[in-house]
Amino acid sequence: MAARMTALADKLTEHRAGITAIDVMLTRLRDTAAHLVLDGGRAAFVDTGTALSLPTLLATLESKGIDRSAVDWVLTTHVHLDHAGGAGALMRELPNARCAVHPRGARHLVDPSKLIAGSREVFGADRYDRIYGEIVPIESSRVFVVEDGARIRLGGRELEMIHTPGHALHHYCIVDQANALTFSGDTFGLSYRDFDVDGRAFIFPTTTPVHFDPDALCASVDRLMSYQPRSIFLTHYAEVTELERLACEMKERVRAFADLGLRHREARDRADKLRRGMFAMISGWLDEHGFPRDEGERHRLLDEDVDINCQGIEVWLDRK
Ligand SMILES: [Zn+2]
Repeated sequence: MAARMTALADKLTEHRAGITAIDVMLTRLRDTAAHLVLDGGRAAFVDTGTALSLPTLLATLESKGIDRSAVDWVLTTHVHLDHAGGAGALMRELPNARCAVHPRGARHLVDPSKLIAGSREVFGADRYDRIYGEIVPIESSRVFVVEDGARIRLGGRELEMIHTPGHALHHYCIVDQANALTFSGDTFGLSYRDFDVDGRAFIFPTTTPVHFDPDALCASVDRLMSYQPRSIFLTHYAEVTELERLACEMKERVRAFADLGLRHREARDRADKLRRGMFAMISGWLDEHGFPRDEGERHRLLDEDVDINCQGIEVWLDRK
């Protein structure tokens, strides 16, 4: 018991405004967060991690003395499995919760078969089975379809849901204007705490198949910034500040990834050129950032994202 409690405490980071980041790691510590938001005795989860995260999410409620019936919302920024793979299993345990999802994502949560097939293709059946677990469908009556600009209540606070295409067509972000913060899912890119140097965050885009769209993604970053947040909470990973700088870098890097794709568009060994090019690009940005670790360590931290990003860029090139 003591060991379990310690392990759970290591997974939780408390932030301002009643927010807890829960480490629901995919392949290494602090690569993926589910966020718990508490207000006036009511609770919401923002993203859930995969189906394998369920014990951690329930243990977090228990450790905070929150009854499962006090959870009003499971907010899934988009249906990719590192964000919503655990939503069905979690919903079964939360009698009063509704699961909020974009109109284009709703059918995938009610019937996950296509999502499972698509993800096995992107990630490989092997990796899929190892890290995603069993996907449970959600009854359609418990799904709340999020229209752009919809507002929901959580305890005393109001949350605005805004559509933000670019990473996925069916992506929405959650704006808490009173607290000047936003939950960005994958729209504001990736910022692993592993890359922090002297408390400064490093950021780069995630261009997962199949809906990467550079123009839409940059417009969505601008839209997030138009609310003038003081913090953005990323699924990968948790709170970032210094948002003016990060938004600029994010948009420059979206353009750089798109340009890389266009440069190698007709190459015979396109996938390989893209992977090498993207790794070198991110590594160069890490040098500018002052990141001290060597190439081997950079490969360990970047290779999976580089691989998935390049697949997404190829899908975009083929669609153009
Ligand atoms: Zn993600």
